[in-house]
Amino acid sequence: MNQNLTTDRQTFATHLECSITGERYEADQLHGLSRAGRPLLVRYDLDAVRSAISRDTIEARPTDLWRWRELLPVRQTANIVSLGEIETPLVPLTKSGGPNVLVKDEGRLPTGSFKARGLVMAVAMAKELGVKKIAMPTNGNAGAALAAYATRCGIETIVFCPDDTPEINVREIAMQGARVWRVNGLIDDCGAIVGKGAAEGRWFDFSTLKEPYRIEGKKTMGLELAAQFGWKLPDAIFYPTGGGTGLIGMWKAFDELEKLGWIGSERPKMFAVQASGCAPIVRAFEAGEEHAERWEDASTVAAGIRVPKAVGDFLILRAVRESGGQALAVGDPAILKAVEAAAKQDGLLLCPEGGATLAAYHQALNTGLVDEDDKVVLFNCATGLKYPMPEAPQALDRTQPIDFDAL
Ligand SMILES: *Cc1c(COP(=O)(O)O)cnc(C)c1O
Repeated sequence: MNQNLTTDRQTFATHLECSITGERYEADQLHGLSRAGRPLLVRYDLDAVRSAISRDTIEARPTDLWRWRELLPVRQTANIVSLGEIETPLVPLTKSGGPNVLVKDEGRLPTGSFKARGLVMAVAMAKELGVKKIAMPTNGNAGAALAAYATRCGIETIVFCPDDTPEINVREIAMQGARVWRVNGLIDDCGAIVGKGAAEGRWFDFSTLKEPYRIEGKKTMGLELAAQFGWKLPDAIFYPTGGGTGLIGMWKAFDELEKLGWIGSERPKMFAVQASGCAPIVRAFEAGEEHAERWEDASTVAAGIRVPKAVGDFLILRAVRESGGQALAVGDPAILKAVEAAAKQDGLLLCPEGGATLAAYHQALNTGLVDEDDKVVLFNCATGLKYPMPEAPQALDRTQPIDFDAL
């Protein structure tokens, strides 16, 4: 077994805090949203972490997600059900991106997407806190990760997804032991069903940011980036933003790392990338609003970022503004073109959401928001293999003469 999981776990989590009022909540108890209806954030005794371990301690450990255990909420190692959460590589995208463009390829994680980071943590905490039944609305990848981890530790799961969710996602959710329902609506319509059942006491609500621990799992993307960049950070990060868990999590990670004295005060510009067919955060950013209105008639090929209304909208907007970044929208044609360019020129198959970050990077380059010398990280959040690809219909009849020059 992984050495990071056999070592005695020591979390330094002390309590939770409402992200809008700062109200304090006890650790080691089951929580959903705060009383103000906002996400709860886990807080740690960072002074104690600083005296207990150093950057060298971290670097001496195997490079997976669990090397960060002091900054993660799980108390009992035995509650972790791991499927092998590796550190994901930074892959240069020289031709379709540029000389300083790296893709953090999250498609290498269990269940083929970075939802594994959030769900491995949230499920471990659910197990630790005695949850027996979980329900979740999903655009696909989160449901798949939930199904895998929950099934592995015997927690029952019921998953609701929009009826046009990619077929492969619906099937992998079912295959990994969840009960999955296709709903004739969008993800927030599915969320309403989950919320109703939770209010009746039927199950625990695992919607994005409605339980506190997915952020902690997604935070590891920021921790990893710091270690991979030699305890500095890149100049800009392009993140495909739906519920925004990852962007909020990375921003939290950078804060914690600075308080530990492991990085300085410089921050990357954070670019929240959305599709033009569903861009509530971009609209709110441009209007200078703190919250984002629901986006009506949301539609995009990038299903993972088709989120009309995000409960953590103000946290996304805050991080983007503080960082000096921006919220950017890109159209579906640009997304598909970017996926094709990365595949055909650099041999890296992105998911549509990853393609959106590449398209947004070029947009930012053209408008002077970043320049070619900037070290840039694009997030590819799922393996491109999960998504439809253009047909390749050419066939060869081996019983006929073959025109080798035409091959
Ligand atoms: C969930 C998902 C996103 C959006 O992530 P958030 O952190 O919820 O904003 C982007 N891309 C893919 C492939 C996803 O599955």
